[in-house]
Amino acid sequence: MTTQEDPLKAGSSREWNWHPDLPVAVTPAFSWPPRPIATLKWFAGNWLPITEYLIYALMAFATWAWLPPSLAETQELHWSWILQIWARNLILMTLFAQGLHVWLYGWKRQGDDFKYDRRGLARNNRVFKFNDQYWDNVFYALVSGVTIWTGFDVLMWYAIANGWTPLITFESNPVWFVALFLLMPVIQSFHFYWLHRALHIPFLYRRVHSVHHRSVSVAPWSGFSMHPVEHLGYMGLLLMFFVVPAHPVHLIFMGYWLALATATSHAGFENLVLGESARLRIGSFHHQLHHRYFECNYGNPEMPWDNWFGSYHDGSPEATAEARERKKQMYS
Ligand SMILES: [Zn+2]
Ligand SMILES: [Zn+2]
Repeated sequence: MTTQEDPLKAGSSREWNWHPDLPVAVTPAFSWPPRPIATLKWFAGNWLPITEYLIYALMAFATWAWLPPSLAETQELHWSWILQIWARNLILMTLFAQGLHVWLYGWKRQGDDFKYDRRGLARNNRVFKFNDQYWDNVFYALVSGVTIWTGFDVLMWYAIANGWTPLITFESNPVWFVALFLLMPVIQSFHFYWLHRALHIPFLYRRVHSVHHRSVSVAPWSGFSMHPVEHLGYMGLLLMFFVVPAHPVHLIFMGYWLALATATSHAGFENLVLGESARLRIGSFHHQLHHRYFECNYGNPEMPWDNWFGSYHDGSPEATAEARERKKQMYS
């Protein structure tokens, strides 16, 4: 790919091997005056025809239908079903992150097509545990991440089975059952922005969030590579099912959305090229900008918090200068 003339059009630039159309897209759902058609298109584009959202939803239904445990089992704490959930989470996280890693960085099946950063994973760098970005990222994602994810899953399965949560079924509340799927990524965006904002307070950044930010050029395992305190806050969103009326399938979806989608959003590639014209959108240039310039894009495109609070990086050199200035002020 060569440098194109219009810097706003998708393609390569001095800073990036590849970037999507700029400014970086964010949801129109909160625009004023309202933009109903654009909002409908945004939601339709997120879910149809085959998208990551849909894949996690189908996986959640398949998990509920075919994989243990059942609610009857989880009424009492027992190692057998706790280990089953842990094994499921461990296997899925590994399949997603290692599968993408091997495809994109090991076999390099699509070369540098749709790759944001020109760099790859860091090696022989003392910033990382084991002096190696890959092993550092795998360690935090599996040892801390999957354990804490499983902990919240176990608590919620136990709570649901014992009637401590507002449980619904499709038959009892069909509209809310479907609407909650559309709402969960928006709720996650709300939670993520505020948690992430707090993690960028220098005191917390140095002690906690810097683990995640070791990876400047991100790769699939980087997404779930966090300090245990960050994992507790991040996966803690699953506690929302103590108050939000939901079915276990919603809990499973939210777990996948929180954990597995970090592997795609940090893949470092905008699209997965699966054939001549088959592409699956996976990456997040919005968050890639956060990893390179730090003090910008604390949220994600599902809610425009950064646009409201002036930390939105649209991909332009001006926004980069602003983010650098913000960082300087925060640490001066
Ligand atoms: Zn951050
Ligand atoms: Zn990140």
